[in-house]
Amino acid sequence: MKEFILKGIPAASGIAEGPGFILDKQDFIIPPRAIMEKEVPIEIARFEEALIKTREEILAIQKKIGSDPLSQHAQIFDAHLLVLEDRTLIEDVIKRVRSDKLSAEYVFSEVLKKYIKIFSSIEDEYLRERVGDVNDVGRRILKNLMDENKLHELENLTEDLVIVSHDLSPSDTASMYNTNIKAFVTDVGGRTSHSAIMAKTLGIPAVVGLKDATLRIQNQDYIIVDGRKGLVIIHPTEETKASYRNMRSRMLKFRGQFEDIKDLPAETPDGRKVVIAANLELPEEIPIVLDQGAEGIGLFRTEYFYMNRIDLPSEEEQFEVYKKVVDALSPETVTIRTLDLGGDKFISSLEIPREMYPFLGLRAIRFCLERPDIFKTQLRAILRASAFGKLRLMYPMISGPGELRQANAVLKEVMRNLEDEKIPFDKDIPVGVMIEVPSAAVTADMLAKEADFFSIGTNDLIQYTLAVDRVNQQTDDLYDPGHPAILRLVKQTIDAAHKENISVGLCGEMSSDPALAFILLGLGLDEFSMSPVSIPQIKKMIRSVSLKDAQDLAEAVLKLSTGEEVGELSKNRLRELAPDIISDEGSGQNK
Ligand code: PEP
Ligand code: MG
Repeated sequence: MKEFILKGIPAASGIAEGPGFILDKQDFIIPPRAIMEKEVPIEIARFEEALIKTREEILAIQKKIGSDPLSQHAQIFDAHLLVLEDRTLIEDVIKRVRSDKLSAEYVFSEVLKKYIKIFSSIEDEYLRERVGDVNDVGRRILKNLMDENKLHELENLTEDLVIVSHDLSPSDTASMYNTNIKAFVTDVGGRTSHSAIMAKTLGIPAVVGLKDATLRIQNQDYIIVDGRKGLVIIHPTEETKASYRNMRSRMLKFRGQFEDIKDLPAETPDGRKVVIAANLELPEEIPIVLDQGAEGIGLFRTEYFYMNRIDLPSEEEQFEVYKKVVDALSPETVTIRTLDLGGDKFISSLEIPREMYPFLGLRAIRFCLERPDIFKTQLRAILRASAFGKLRLMYPMISGPGELRQANAVLKEVMRNLEDEKIPFDKDIPVGVMIEVPSAAVTADMLAKEADFFSIGTNDLIQYTLAVDRVNQQTDDLYDPGHPAILRLVKQTIDAAHKENISVGLCGEMSSDPALAFILLGLGLDEFSMSPVSIPQIKKMIRSVSLKDAQDLAEAVLKLSTGEEVGELSKNRLRELAPDIISDEGSGQNK
């Protein structure tokens, strides 16, 4: 088969290879599981047993319905029984289990898909409608072949695979943790979508916005994913594979050069010291955070704790997790962000009505103010954990002083309750505001008087300021962190914070791009928070340039009118001052 290349948006760096696995939301997630020769009869027997069990189930339903004289549905099950007795289908499965030595459920799911495709394309309307029957029976058989609860889980994927999907929700991506998934590629999505951010957390490459990858790639096609350049190579030749393996080892070597400075302070040669902290999505990532030399957690995205479960986390459960994170990071500071639901993050335990524009809807603090029960439970858990270490609390999506006061009023009430109950907490817990809505950046002078610290969320600030959806691949070219409006808002926010003597960090993806972080250093940013994997490189950059260089650069870029010019100037300066910081690896945001 001939090699071909698809180009998308680089979402998480790195190179990986493996067979593709097409993930269709409608389908069950059944990975190919190889079996040994001696297991073939066992698999066939399991398949036959599942057929018998399914037949019994259908007969039982039919009997129940059939006794209801008003029911006309009993015949439907006749059709289901016919599917079950379809010898061609059954033989097809048995033959493939024997020849391919793959598990019965995988072979059956593949054969089922083939049948569904054939039925769907039949012209005869009656026969076409049988697709529903084939589907229903197929699902029953699969359920009887596997643990029903496990049918949809990404954790089922125990093989080394590259996921190919139209879209992936942040919760899908989060459930890839601890699987052997090598990389993922999607038809849609933007570089700062939460799925892309999660890929970085998982340390796997990702390419998004490929438009039609799910149509161009077939299950089991061998794929190389180049997350640095946003390329997906299908059916790579041996030569291409060798060249990518070579590149991969060069990349690892490039990263390896930062090893020795990991635990040194983030300080410029002329004495400007900043904090380099980590963004945390899953508490399981703490060892990596510590290993990369993070000086605390600048953003704990707590919403992941609410995902992939059928209920809401209790106060006690949350308290345990927050305390665990605080303990693990001690004596460094942990910044917990209150729930940021909505936008591209949803949870199954809450039936939240779908909105037309979820990023502009009941997201984050707006949702929490609407649902004080959920908000208060989280605040109580955070406050209780604050008794055990250095903890800061921050609100997402604050749009101005009014909203900050509303959130603080709830916080005060929760504090009073805890006091009444004699439950210890840090009464002086720093309470900060994320500056990620343009109106917050514009009113930063006011907010700075009422907040203890700021954290600029450029992922959202860019999308809201430039009116560019962060998860839409069609507008990716317009998603521009170096746009003069963004640099001005960031500068204005930093200046406003410093005027009131509060510290200001930045926890969007912008802080992990060396060329952009260089500018941020010059603008006076106090804290850079990012995916742990990016920390050593940014630390090295800060240790390689002077504050004076950075300030000169910041002054110069503020006079430029396009992000492209900004990126170019900054990269060129960095190449002169610290040539080993930028590799051909391609960095996160700067295009
Ligand atoms: C941001 O908006 O920059 C941010 C850090 O928050 P999130 O990416 O979770 O929206
Ligand atoms: Mg945000």
